[in-house]
Amino acid sequence: MMTDHERLAQAVPALISWYEANRISMPWREDPTPYHVWISEIMLQQTRIEAAIPYYHRFLAALPDIPALAAVEEDRLLKLWQGLGYYSRARNLKKAAVEILERFDGRLPADAKALRSLPGIGDYTAGAIASIAYGLPEPAVDGNVLRVVMRLTACDEDILAPATRKRVAALLRGVYPTGAEAAALTEGIMELGERVCIPNGEPRCGACPVAGLCAARQEAAVERYPVRAEKKPRRLQPMTVLLISCGDRYALRRRPETGLLAGLWEFPNVDGAQTPEEVAAFLTGQGVTPVAVRSCGEARHVFSHVEWRMQGYAVACDKPTPGFTWKTAAEIRSDMAIPTAFRFYLSQLEDVPCPIKSI
Ligand code: SF4
Repeated sequence: MMTDHERLAQAVPALISWYEANRISMPWREDPTPYHVWISEIMLQQTRIEAAIPYYHRFLAALPDIPALAAVEEDRLLKLWQGLGYYSRARNLKKAAVEILERFDGRLPADAKALRSLPGIGDYTAGAIASIAYGLPEPAVDGNVLRVVMRLTACDEDILAPATRKRVAALLRGVYPTGAEAAALTEGIMELGERVCIPNGEPRCGACPVAGLCAARQEAAVERYPVRAEKKPRRLQPMTVLLISCGDRYALRRRPETGLLAGLWEFPNVDGAQTPEEVAAFLTGQGVTPVAVRSCGEARHVFSHVEWRMQGYAVACDKPTPGFTWKTAAEIRSDMAIPTAFRFYLSQLEDVPCPIKSI
């Protein structure tokens, strides 16, 4: 009976040859400098490849290198990131760029441990930069890689457990090549997971270069892997979003510096599904005198652990209250990084808010 190490060691050359024969061109693959690999990997953490490509081009056109990233104004950075979500990733890119200038002479270090010491760079991203850009024998274990290895070795540990990820990384590290082959192996396993050993539905084992080595297939139990422990259901959070207008300006505020969507601009909102009367009472408490309130639609947004169920009210008021920042619809659309969670309400802004009948 083959050990997991032997199975993986035999799979490595097959995965590299398969990747070299089947690789799909992507902008960052055609010029895999450490900076390009870094930016692309951070973007791809929560975004599909096709969706990330225009962002990648736009980002590099604006911030072509580490000094430009270190010097960028935060609002401009967040605007470049708008639509990708998880804005802390963009902030960490800038923080890391500043540290790279201070600590590493302006170059991303060619060392996985040093890479991991930078803000926003965890095991996965460090492994990707180290292997793809520098040819170091470091695995980059994402969900695709985990799934492939767990099927290949018929591993029945929980795929979501951190200990499983550590074990898979250690197993891979023991068989990793160096140089161009390290890059091809990192890209190859991920791509096999994207295109052949796919997550939902039946994997395409007939097209798999390591089918002859796959323990799950030998057990005729491919559908059993990967094993996934029950997830806690997502928390539902009802909330009320307020489009408060005064003349042609709308009220915005910054979110708190910590927690979900930290420090981003948002439309004022309150927890819970409020009635128009409750909204009016809440606003009065904030020093806003509402002259009219009307419903402006419902929306929802799903985060990893919570789902916002939003209902909105358009509120007209007679004077701009100092507690908010007041901007026109055009300024909000062009200059302010509003999280995607509020996209529906962004679409409800009017350049000249219509007069609203009083309740
Ligand atoms: Fe995945 Fe099938 Fe290949 Fe096994 S044989 S690694 S299950 S695609």
